[in-house]
Amino acid sequence: MAAIGISGIEKNYGPIPVLRGIDLDIADGEFVVLVGPSGCGKSTLLRLIAGLEAIDRGELRIAGRRVNELAPKDRDLAMVFQSYALYPHMTVADNMSYALRLRRTPKDKVAAALAAASAKLGLERLTERKPRALSGGQRQRVAMGRAIVRHPQAFLFDEPLSNLDARLREQMRFEIRKLHRDLGATSVYVTHDQIEAMTMADRIVAMNEGVIQQVGTPAELYDTPANLFVAGFIGSPAMNVLQGEVVAGEGGTTVRIGGAVLASVSPGTRPGPVTLGVRPERIALTAPGDGATATVELVEPTGLATIVHLDLGGQPVKTFTTERLSLKAGEPVGLRLEAGGLSLFAPETGERLVAAKA
Ligand code: ADP
Ligand code: MG
Repeated sequence: MAAIGISGIEKNYGPIPVLRGIDLDIADGEFVVLVGPSGCGKSTLLRLIAGLEAIDRGELRIAGRRVNELAPKDRDLAMVFQSYALYPHMTVADNMSYALRLRRTPKDKVAAALAAASAKLGLERLTERKPRALSGGQRQRVAMGRAIVRHPQAFLFDEPLSNLDARLREQMRFEIRKLHRDLGATSVYVTHDQIEAMTMADRIVAMNEGVIQQVGTPAELYDTPANLFVAGFIGSPAMNVLQGEVVAGEGGTTVRIGGAVLASVSPGTRPGPVTLGVRPERIALTAPGDGATATVELVEPTGLATIVHLDLGGQPVKTFTTERLSLKAGEPVGLRLEAGGLSLFAPETGERLVAAKA
C-alpha cells in the first residue's frame, strides 16, 4: 500500500483545460472519493494516476516516488470500472487470476490468492462460471476480485456501481467499505453520486470544472461547505440558498430576509447583502408569529420524514423533519433556525464568509 501525492497537475485536451492545477495528498490506507458533476474531470484525474493519460504539468508521486514517466503496468495500481471489462470466454477463476498468470506467478500462489479473494467476496461457488451466467452485482465482485488478487499499491475505482440498481448499489457500497476495512488499501473512488461520497469516504474531494472546490471529511463538507457549489452539491434535499442582509443595529448583528430577523450572527460580520445557506433539517417550524413567517406551498412525505416546501417572502425554502405534520398548502407557519445551522456566503463570489452563529 502507498500514499499518493499530486502537485500542480494540469491536463488539457487540445486547447481545452480539463484539470487546472490539482493539489492533493492521499495518505497510505486512506479511502478518498472524488465527487462532482459529469465532465468535471474526475475520470481524467484517475486515468492520470493510473498512467493511462499523460500529465501535461505537475508531479505525481506514489509511495514518495515520482511516477509521471512510469508505464501503467509498472505503477502497480488496480483499476475497477463501471463496465466490468471481464473476459467473456474465461471463467470467474481465470478472469480473477489472469494478471497473476501473466506474471508467471507460481500455481500454488495463484490458487491461494484466488481462494482468499473468492472467500472475501462470497464468490467461492461461482468460480467455474462464465461472466454471462452472473448477475450485475456478481460481475462487479469478480472485477473487484481481479483487483484484490494482485495486492496492488492502491485501488482506483471509476463509478463501479453506476450500472447496478439502487438496492444493490447500497449493498455494494457497504461491501466495498468492509473490504477496505479488511485490506486497508489506499483507494481513490470516483463517483458523481454525493450519497456514495458521503457514505464511503474518509475524505471527499469535491470537484467542479477541473478545479478542486473543497477537501474534507463528509461532515466538514456537509456542515461547512467552502462555497455555494459544494453547498448545493452535497446533501439531499439540498441546502437552502437564500438572499438576505446582514444588519448591525442596537440589538446586535442580525441576518434578515425582507424585514424579518432570522438569526443573530457574530458582531464582526460584514453588513450588507449576503447569501445564506441553511440545511433543511436545521429549520424548525413554529406557530405563526414565532420567528419569520412563511407560507406552506407543498408537503412531501417520504416515509422516514416530511419535506415541507415553503415560501419565505418570495424565496423558496425547504424544511425536513421526522415529525408527522398536518400542514396544508396556503397555511402560514413560523420558521426558526437552529443554533449553528447557518452558513454565510459572499453574494459576489459564492465563497464562504464565516461560520456564523445563529
Ligand atoms: P468526469 O469523469 O468527471 O465525468 P472526464 O474526466 O471524463 O469527466 O472529462 C472531463 C472533460 O474532459 C469533459 O469535458 C470531457 O468531454 C473531456 N474529455 C475527456 N476525455 C477526453 C479526450 N480523450 N479527448 C478530449 N476531451 C476529453
Ligand atoms: Mg467519469
